[in-house]
Amino acid sequence: FSSSGQLCKERRLEPSETPVRIQLMWPRIMNSAIDRTSGLTGYRFYIRKKDLEIPDRTLSWRECSQELNAIETFLTSFLQQVTCYKEYSDLCNLPDLNERTLLDNVKSRFQNSNIYTYVGSILIAVNPFKFFPIYNPKYVKMYQNKRLGELPPHIFAIADTAFYTMLRKRKNQCIVISGESGSGKTETNNLLLHHLTALSQKGAHGSGVEQTILGAGPVLEAFGNAKTVHNNNSSRFGKFVQVNYKENGMVHGAIVEKYLLEKSRIVSQAKNERNYHVFYYLLAGSDEEERETLHLLEPQDYTYLKQSECFILDGFEEERVDEKYEFERLKQSMEMVGFSAVTQKRIFSVLSAVLLLGNVEFKKKGDQHHDESVTVKTESVVQIISSLLKVKEKTLVDALTQKRATAGDETVFMNYKMEDAIATRDAMAKCLYGALFDWIVLKVNQALLAKRHHSDHQGNSIGVLDIFGFEDFTKNSFEQFCINYANEHLQYYFNQHIFKFEQEEYKKEGIQWKNIEFIDNTGCLELFSKRGTGLFPLLDEECNFPGATNTSLLTKFNHHNKTYTYYQVPQLKEEAFFIVHYAGKVKYQIKDFREKNGDQIRPEIVSVLKSSSLTFVREVMGIDPVALLRWSIIRTLIRSVFAFTAAGDNYRTSNRLRINTNSQRRGSDYSLPDSLIPSENLLRKNKSFRPKSKPPTMLSDIKTLKDIASRTMYGSGRDPSKKQKSSVSAQFQWSLNRLMSTLQQANPFFIRCIKSNADKLPCTFDDVLVLRQLRYTGMLATVKIRQSGYNHRLTFDEFIQMYKILLPKGLLSSKDDVKDFLEHMKFMEENYQIGITKVFLRETEKQRLDQALHVA
Ligand code: ATP
Ligand code: MG
Repeated sequence: FSSSGQLCKERRLEPSETPVRIQLMWPRIMNSAIDRTSGLTGYRFYIRKKDLEIPDRTLSWRECSQELNAIETFLTSFLQQVTCYKEYSDLCNLPDLNERTLLDNVKSRFQNSNIYTYVGSILIAVNPFKFFPIYNPKYVKMYQNKRLGELPPHIFAIADTAFYTMLRKRKNQCIVISGESGSGKTETNNLLLHHLTALSQKGAHGSGVEQTILGAGPVLEAFGNAKTVHNNNSSRFGKFVQVNYKENGMVHGAIVEKYLLEKSRIVSQAKNERNYHVFYYLLAGSDEEERETLHLLEPQDYTYLKQSECFILDGFEEERVDEKYEFERLKQSMEMVGFSAVTQKRIFSVLSAVLLLGNVEFKKKGDQHHDESVTVKTESVVQIISSLLKVKEKTLVDALTQKRATAGDETVFMNYKMEDAIATRDAMAKCLYGALFDWIVLKVNQALLAKRHHSDHQGNSIGVLDIFGFEDFTKNSFEQFCINYANEHLQYYFNQHIFKFEQEEYKKEGIQWKNIEFIDNTGCLELFSKRGTGLFPLLDEECNFPGATNTSLLTKFNHHNKTYTYYQVPQLKEEAFFIVHYAGKVKYQIKDFREKNGDQIRPEIVSVLKSSSLTFVREVMGIDPVALLRWSIIRTLIRSVFAFTAAGDNYRTSNRLRINTNSQRRGSDYSLPDSLIPSENLLRKNKSFRPKSKPPTMLSDIKTLKDIASRTMYGSGRDPSKKQKSSVSAQFQWSLNRLMSTLQQANPFFIRCIKSNADKLPCTFDDVLVLRQLRYTGMLATVKIRQSGYNHRLTFDEFIQMYKILLPKGLLSSKDDVKDFLEHMKFMEENYQIGITKVFLRETEKQRLDQALHVA
């Protein structure tokens, strides 16, 4: 049948068409199947004879035609139904492209449990809020080493393509996952990492680095994710995991980089939201002994947990999170990343102390009216905190109630008023938790580095980015301001790659091309970060300006009302402003902007915590990159010496070691203990120094460590070249810019996550919500450019190299030769173009060439 319902001649499938099997619901041919070509022409119905109600004897003509008529009637009506719901696994094949057909196609696929759809090599993933059995090892295997599009769309196919592209082209790849909060980025990220590590586990996998990579996910999620109104497992930090591979495709190591943890959540949360998961896991899962030694209470007993009146994760019965079980899982994952039982216990003590800090209350010291200074009311709580953190009780009380100031030569103590004491208490809780989170990331990175294979790293990497999604709450503050800015950046990156670079190249190459419009968000990014007058510079300025307030900040912000359409002032006078983001207009409350931006580590708080007699607390509080480096260098050196003394092949590395250590000594101010550097003479004399394997590339190890340490130190990454303390937003911008430049140097794959409904209901598709997301992500224009664009482009040289065997002998790499060849192949003219230096091909023509190559 053709799509219009006419019976037509059978036709062979084109190589590019994948047959799709559909079960018929018609009882008589229930077990039969239809092969529907994904191309445009029609359907082929297979009906098994035994499914027909045909008696086992020769039929009379009447009987036969009755039966056939019945089938025809059914099939015609069936066809009418399916043509309305005809699905394309790649939206580029949509014959009639508009917003409606786009949405219908995604919807009909979703309703048939196909949550993934391609737009060329871009993957759209619609979150079903219900797990389908499509991620098991069978699927991992099925998708290995398959051409993109050969099998139904899947994230594994993207991971696989990134992996083989990396190996083939020897270039770094990155997978950028974007979408609003609750759209499924983190789940996608986890599944991708599973696949990316599984791909390399073909043979023996000695180092266990894969396990560490996989263990890091649940640990970071427990400490950095929380329930918000949009998502029960919302990431409150961003992360970029770069998996390094050796040239043979084995995992070599990985680096985790984190961006901006939302620290305000530790001390307060909006209604119906929760604090970080780990607190609830700890309280639900710890045994009697732990409860006692850690002085744990019930969630309802902690101020930091009870204000939002939300203790459990709402969910459907079968999906309800068992926090006891989660605690077990967390402990297992912590073990996988190298946290011993003792370290775990120390971590949990810090968590208990953080929670108890919230229960510290103050009371006025005297009854005189004018004396507003306060003292601690809940002494027993402070006592427990001091025992958990091993900090002297008096030191703690003093730090919470008074400030030290120097006047001339004298040191004076000024007592805090109630609000200052509370602010200091909260600052301490945030500081402690923030430092603990940074320390965990650092330790994970160290574990990943330590488990690396002992060899030079000459391979490439695949980076997977999962940040906090775009957010719009009833009340939005500084955190949303930063989160949404990061999402603007990602949208910009997408636009650059999908529209800008592509169209610029067509223009440069002089091929015929009708420009495709897209919504450019450069202006919005400029509004945030323009030197001097952007919102971030203004914010920093007001943070440093004596006497400035959030109101004076808003007045400065409001000047942009005239210059940028992206900035709007509310109609009614209020302490807020609007920003028109690519994903929608968001109203931000200016309250606390200055305070949150200036939320630096307060030295007096750090020094109290550093006075702890527990090494662990001191270490957490003082990630000192110099000390850390010193230790790591020593360790690396010891490893090298071991490598030298091991008997083995003839690989001589003495020079390499010497050069590396020397250059490291010259180039930095970190002193190495001389005793640990093997002397030149010793190396020269002792010919038996034949290491079994290559020693680690020390310089790169050390660089990596230095890098990690500088980025991880106190939070959101900081430009190590800047000595002075920068604001939260300056650090955030700096780390985002760094991320962007890493991404710019890699070949990107895009996954666009879409939230199917706002109520987190399984298998429920809200047309309006999905359409809004398809719109603001520019999907229509993306399909357009992918449909009419040329996905494959090769220089004439590359083309000849690749298709040598197909070409007549002696062909040069000239433009005319390639042109003659393509004409000779009788390619459809609209499917390729010859530019000044390159040949541009559409998918079908590329496939024809590859097919021919395969046959040849
Ligand atoms: P945020 O920006 O807030 O961190 P997110 O985009 O990372 O949000 P996730 O936490 O990945 O969102 O997803 C939210 C929830 O949706 C998950 O907890 C899970 O229940 C469900 N979910 C996401 N992806 C899938 C999937 N592929 N299959 C089934 N359910 C999913
Ligand atoms: Mg997330």
